[in-house]
Amino acid sequence: MSTIISKFTDAALSEMRQNHTYRTMRLMESPEASRVLLRDTKDGTSREQVLLASNSYLDLANVPELKQAMANAVLEWGTGSGGARLTTGNKTPHVELESEIARFKGEEAAITFNTGYMANVGTISALCGKGDYVFSDELNHASIIDGIRLSRSKCLVYKHNDMADLERAILEAKDAAGKSGAEFRGMVVTDAVFSMDGDLANLPELLRIAHRHDCLLMIDEAHATGVIGKTGRGLAEHYGCGHADVTVGTLSKAVAAEGGFVAGSAKLTDFLRNKARSFIFTTAMAPAVAAAALNNLKFINAHPERVLQLRGKVNFFCESLRCEGLDVATSPSAIVPIVIGDEAKAMQVSEALQERGILIPAIRYPTVAKGQARLRASLMATHTKEELEFAAHTLAELCNTPNLVPRT
Ligand SMILES: *Cc1c(COP(=O)(O)O)cnc(C)c1O
Repeated sequence: MSTIISKFTDAALSEMRQNHTYRTMRLMESPEASRVLLRDTKDGTSREQVLLASNSYLDLANVPELKQAMANAVLEWGTGSGGARLTTGNKTPHVELESEIARFKGEEAAITFNTGYMANVGTISALCGKGDYVFSDELNHASIIDGIRLSRSKCLVYKHNDMADLERAILEAKDAAGKSGAEFRGMVVTDAVFSMDGDLANLPELLRIAHRHDCLLMIDEAHATGVIGKTGRGLAEHYGCGHADVTVGTLSKAVAAEGGFVAGSAKLTDFLRNKARSFIFTTAMAPAVAAAALNNLKFINAHPERVLQLRGKVNFFCESLRCEGLDVATSPSAIVPIVIGDEAKAMQVSEALQERGILIPAIRYPTVAKGQARLRASLMATHTKEELEFAAHTLAELCNTPNLVPRT
């Protein structure tokens, strides 16, 4: 048996080991919070780390009243949903969650999926098909890319946040469609907050260009929901502009539960309920998970100061990094990239930080371009200024140490 599996696995595994892209998992021995207990895989000890790497931006995973509310939902609704949404799985918490998402996002309707990944894959492959055009930012999330592939539509990738290049791609596609005599159908799709750079899509301009050319606009607010805009509603609130036609998001980052959603018109959600295969052919999320997402979303609605608190911490951290002499712009999101350049150096700085009790992962090729290796910090509303100052100071010190010796 082992020899048969080897034919499928061994070449790829050894290649990954050779080019340093082989991945292992960290082990956390405490819940997601601004400080965590991390197991050191090298010496088997555990130590506390300031966690500057979480997507739980508002630090809601451990709020006592929210934990209690989820526990109550388990007692009321049991451990699993028992069926797909379209068979027996659709329970009151699922429906209430969808209404709350629609309200929160200021849309007519919403539909939930089990993950954000499934929301993207299901939505794009349902809306677009063979002969359609999808215009995709070059830095879009893998789930968007997979959705486009699954849809079998023609994908035109435009340069990151480059609106002139997007319009060029649209004109090119319209031209090609015109020549073939087919009706042109196109969709522009983009991350709202780009996950490795923390920068924002230009929603007002995207709306203008997409609609000028009769294209649908879809944005993925995974890192934007609960973070961007004064009350965390996302890019439309931030820019004070209209909404995209299709807004995707996740309930697993700032909302600190699990699941994905699509918000938009009732026609859109009605269509997806009937056409999105990742919605139809899977068991509904556990009702207690839907209830947790609902409670957490209501909490964000009731505590907009938490979103402002996060914004304050991001500003403070970026300012602290600059005070230490690092060239870092103030991030508009909760993601702060500190570009180091050299791959090995970025890894060494990240390891040395961890030895000092600060967890900031290094991100390198192929996730980002060669020579653009970076530390990717992400902040929580509850980080203390002391923690952030300590991290900024230690980071600068390590960046300026010429020969960091990697631990053996
Ligand atoms: C995290 C993320 C997703 C996936 O969401 P999950 O709920 O974790 O599956 C999709 N799109 C973007 C841009 C993301 O950052």
